[in-house]
Amino acid sequence: MAEKDLEATSHFADMVAAKQGWVLNPDTEFTSSLLEGLTINWNRYGYFLCPCRDTEGSASADRSVICPCSFAKADIQEHGHCFCALYLRPDFAASGKSPIGIPDRRYGTA
Ligand code: SF4
Repeated sequence: MAEKDLEATSHFADMVAAKQGWVLNPDTEFTSSLLEGLTINWNRYGYFLCPCRDTEGSASADRSVICPCSFAKADIQEHGHCFCALYLRPDFAASGKSPIGIPDRRYGTA
């Protein structure tokens, strides 16, 4: 698996946001730290494990939390941002509101 650098991960995140109609969190420092986390995870595991979650040990076990995770659409629709707050709904971003901690749907707590 070829290593990725921050630029490649950033490009990936831009593509995801454009395809889904989301925007990246305008807090660039925060967003950079998440993109760094995604890059580290790619280089460690070979896939974009969510930077806010722990691995369950394999790609198949982690499938639902490979970015963009299976819960992103529902979270963004309901809360205005994904669990990590990397991706935001455009109107939420425009409102200037800050993302809040939301329940992790991974374990059915939502
Ligand atoms: S919560 Fe989902 S969409 Fe957001 S960074 Fe993590 S994996 Fe990606």
